[in-house]
Amino acid sequence: MSSLTFKKGIHPKHAKHFTKDKAIEYILPEGDVTIMLQQHIGAPCSPLVKVGDEVLVGQKIGDSESFVSAPVHSTVSGKVKKIMDVLHPNGSKSTGIIIENDGLYNEVEMTPKDPYSMSKDDILATIREAGIVGMGGAGFPTFIKLNPPKDKIIDYIIVNGAECEPYLTSDHRVMLEESDRIIKGLSVILTIYPEAKGIIGIEDNKPDAIEAMRNALSKFQKESDLDIAKNMEVASLATKYPQGAEKQLIYSVTKREVPGGKLPADAGCIVQNIDTVVAIHRAFFRGRPLMRRIVTLSGENVKNPGNYKVKIGTSYRQLIEYAGGDVENTKKIISGGPMMGLAIFDIDIPIIKTSSSILLLSDEEMHSGEESPCIRCGKCVDACPMNLLPLDLDRFARNNATEAFETYKGMHCIECGSCSYVCPSKRYLVQSIRTTRRTVMAERRK
Ligand code: SF4
Ligand code: SF4
Repeated sequence: MSSLTFKKGIHPKHAKHFTKDKAIEYILPEGDVTIMLQQHIGAPCSPLVKVGDEVLVGQKIGDSESFVSAPVHSTVSGKVKKIMDVLHPNGSKSTGIIIENDGLYNEVEMTPKDPYSMSKDDILATIREAGIVGMGGAGFPTFIKLNPPKDKIIDYIIVNGAECEPYLTSDHRVMLEESDRIIKGLSVILTIYPEAKGIIGIEDNKPDAIEAMRNALSKFQKESDLDIAKNMEVASLATKYPQGAEKQLIYSVTKREVPGGKLPADAGCIVQNIDTVVAIHRAFFRGRPLMRRIVTLSGENVKNPGNYKVKIGTSYRQLIEYAGGDVENTKKIISGGPMMGLAIFDIDIPIIKTSSSILLLSDEEMHSGEESPCIRCGKCVDACPMNLLPLDLDRFARNNATEAFETYKGMHCIECGSCSYVCPSKRYLVQSIRTTRRTVMAERRK
């Protein structure tokens, strides 16, 4: 059967060869960790501890009364050294709790729970208490995503195993090494939506992951007496960027379109990232909150590229030095993927729940060059998966024509960067569109 796909999109170089065969390696933090109070979309947490307090692994140390938020937990045992503004991976300054790591890793009591005998409200409360957020980059609190308004009928829970960004292989490795946990994590979600179909979508450039997930599913279906076990399948997706973007993934898997400005739930779907589903597994079957993530360290300037399992709060510097990253000769350091990630200008920042990768890219890998005038070739239009006119949006953005920008659906842009990637004039299309989107959003919030 041919792989499922969406309209338009591009085929960037995969560059996954650096790390796709590297098994996940666990490294412990050296010295202090910094737990940011803002690691999600929504209100930042307030500290629940003060300087001098002793803390344990798994202890909740920050939370918020705002609905859109998720608590944070200590990932080491030790003493709270400072609570202060530090540099956040997003480039802003925000509050972090700095914990002097005693190296003992003494833990609070963490008790597993049986999700299959719990109510929907109790399952969602457990996911919230575990501090689980979307780990694919967005960081939206998972308990909210799993609880859309009551008038939305959810037909599909889609687990996003596309990992379409070049270089990134952490989800690929998790699918190979923790396939049983992904299946069980999905079964927890299906306990809330027993009528829905659970589909794990994987790009067909990862045939070993498709096979591993199919084997894990078949084992679960043989061993489990749960009805929901029959509602799951693994789907092969065409290898194309941005296959992992929510709207494109939903279209590929279900042929349903999410209208501009609407959410997946409006099309009867909820999408969850691979590692988020593993975090759900850990929250129930091991009683553990979200305290670790897998980070891909890659690029030509990394001596030992790999996939590293690290405690949240570990510094980027430690990870880069451990992997032999040559910062001096690197053109650009990116966190989160070359197409949609953020440039990093200071490596003394902590890993947060959404830090999927650290890429040290050379001049050659950056494909950078001088911007020149648009030659109206139309390649950006052919590439745009949202059916927009990037060349026009760019023109409106540069002329501060926000009304025209909105009329031409600039706010429907998903900032995938496909237009910039294909542009022969190397126009900074996604950059100008992104800036104008931020301006319009700020205006709307006033
Ligand atoms: S791809 Fe670049 S040069 Fe071609 S139409 Fe779009 S903006 Fe212009
Ligand atoms: S206009 Fe937006 S959605 Fe379309 S290709 Fe460019 S960045 Fe992607």
